[in-house]
Amino acid sequence: MRTWVNVILFIIVIALIIPTLIVKGCSVKSIHLQGPDNHDGTEEQDEIKLKWKSNEPKIALYDHQKKEVVDMALEEYIAGVVAAEMPVSFEMEALKAQAVAARTFAVKKMHVFGGSGCQNHSEADVCSFYGHCQAWIGEDDQKRNWGNDYEKNRSRIVQAVEETRGDIITYAGEPIEVFFYSTSNGKTEDVSEVFSTALPYYKVVDSPGEEDAPKYKEVFSFSNKQFVDIFKKQYPKSNLRPNDLERQIKILSHTDGDRVKEVQVGNIKIKGKDFRNVYGINSSDFTFEFLKDSVKIHTRGYGHGVGMSQVGADRMAKGGSSYIDIIKHYYVGVDIQKAY
Ligand SMILES: [Zn+2]
Repeated sequence: MRTWVNVILFIIVIALIIPTLIVKGCSVKSIHLQGPDNHDGTEEQDEIKLKWKSNEPKIALYDHQKKEVVDMALEEYIAGVVAAEMPVSFEMEALKAQAVAARTFAVKKMHVFGGSGCQNHSEADVCSFYGHCQAWIGEDDQKRNWGNDYEKNRSRIVQAVEETRGDIITYAGEPIEVFFYSTSNGKTEDVSEVFSTALPYYKVVDSPGEEDAPKYKEVFSFSNKQFVDIFKKQYPKSNLRPNDLERQIKILSHTDGDRVKEVQVGNIKIKGKDFRNVYGINSSDFTFEFLKDSVKIHTRGYGHGVGMSQVGADRMAKGGSSYIDIIKHYYVGVDIQKAY
């Protein structure tokens, strides 16, 4: 009798364990990969690592959080950039385009490829500060940000990186100078309007379908006094006065990308991109709405407008475009080549 009880208990235990093993195995099967650092934890979320390839170069990253240089496999770094730079809910082809853009940026900087590294941290190839090189977050932050969705989201990022492994954007055989941003105003911008450089692959192209994006339209309100104070802080010689702003401010010209090229503010003429920085507004595509005691600045788009719009990439992907279509749309006349 006792033997039968034991057999039944044994069967119940096995029946409970097997499905758990199957689910665990399937959820990470295609992307849980062998590598020197592979995590063996089973109670907590496993780290989902990229395949390590022997020909894959290492990148020296200055981590702004840890305040130190860390060496890591290039593709592992790219995964952290995609995780930091683009919403993971975006279409797979958009994530892939982001991975290729991020890798191009990195390769152009890396010493091993002849680059000059991060200018702020000479011992590193790149830094993790979005305002200088490009944003990057490690796996701990990815887990914290995504919580229960970590495995699902991380798998998508790893897929985007693996399916573009080594791919970079080139022009005349050289990695391009990569720029990208969040949301366009319907068009991209000529690089020379924003950065003091002329690059042949940055032409103004249409970027439709972004009107429903969260940052496509925004309104920034300032009291007349605030508006004047902010301006005078940057331009102390300005004669701007709080009363009757409407008569003192005038948009003078627009760029081919429909952004403000030049604006007159009191006795001072400034570029639209500089006006954007002074007021911390989303875009240099702006218009004014003058009220009695305040002024509203209406913006379209989010970011400088040069190169790939991330929302635009997502919209193109939704319409059936591949990551190659997306890249060739935003970077005109380029090729995609393997960096290693
Ligand atoms: Zn840097």
